[in-house]
Amino acid sequence: MSIPPAGSFAALPRRIKVCEMGPRDGLQNESAVVSTSDKIRYIDLLSDSGLPVIETTSFVRPNAIPQLTDAEAVMAGIVRRAGVTYLCLVPNVRGLDRARAAGVTSIAVFTAASESFTKRNINMTIAESLQAFSDVIRIGRAEGFWIRGYISTAFGCPYEGDVATAEVVRVATALADMGIDELSIGDTIGVATPAKVVEVAEALQRQLPVERLAMHFHDTRGTALANVLAAMQMGIDIFDSSAGGLGGCPYAPGASGNLATEDLLYMLHGMGIETGVDLERVRAASRFISGVLGRPLTSRAYNALEAASTRT
Ligand code: MG
Repeated sequence: MSIPPAGSFAALPRRIKVCEMGPRDGLQNESAVVSTSDKIRYIDLLSDSGLPVIETTSFVRPNAIPQLTDAEAVMAGIVRRAGVTYLCLVPNVRGLDRARAAGVTSIAVFTAASESFTKRNINMTIAESLQAFSDVIRIGRAEGFWIRGYISTAFGCPYEGDVATAEVVRVATALADMGIDELSIGDTIGVATPAKVVEVAEALQRQLPVERLAMHFHDTRGTALANVLAAMQMGIDIFDSSAGGLGGCPYAPGASGNLATEDLLYMLHGMGIETGVDLERVRAASRFISGVLGRPLTSRAYNALEAASTRT
């Protein structure tokens, strides 16, 4: 039994839901294209760790993203464990049709809080993206899909710089009004600091129940875990991370992108906060994908644990 956090941490959430981003967000941002069978093995290893949510693949237009043309084969090949949500990105109604046919029950839609990012990323205005999702969400809800929404560039945009908190709230409220189950607020370029996280979390909580809010931090500038702690102090208990820190930052070549799952678990478990996830098993999945990619991983906790276990 772990010891509950004391002092100023006593009011933190006692349990955190960790949403694993490695197989989709992570691999999509790797230059190497991983074979379908290796993806399936990787997802199955992650499933073994107790992760409650694994973002598995994306039903984007085939050929739009070379790393993700095998969504059907991946969903058909993985072992779906009871209690694990296998989340799939769905950009439009056509993608929803494909996801449904593949036996998917949890979907995600993605937009951003910055017009220029949305334009370059999905070639739509924010308003157009919300319009496109309204059909996906309406049909998805009627059919009983669990639906997550992503809002990228919520803390800063690679093209526009600062993003107004009011704009994040506007997009979040629009998605929530459509009936989305959970919203993940993303720091796509890793510029957020704890004070900004508190500001955004406070503003969002005036409009939305905290239970529906997740945060997705990138560690590009080393602030991801500090931002997690700040968000937890605001009552947020759902965080996205990527095993090994998979997926670089396309806007800062060579820099780390997604917060690493091992780093997040190391901090939470060390504070006596439960996740239900076995760090050693996540590490095994990371070791596997590191071998497939043929490159070292950026996760500090992963590398420290690997070094400790190979030292004689
Ligand atoms: Mg990410």
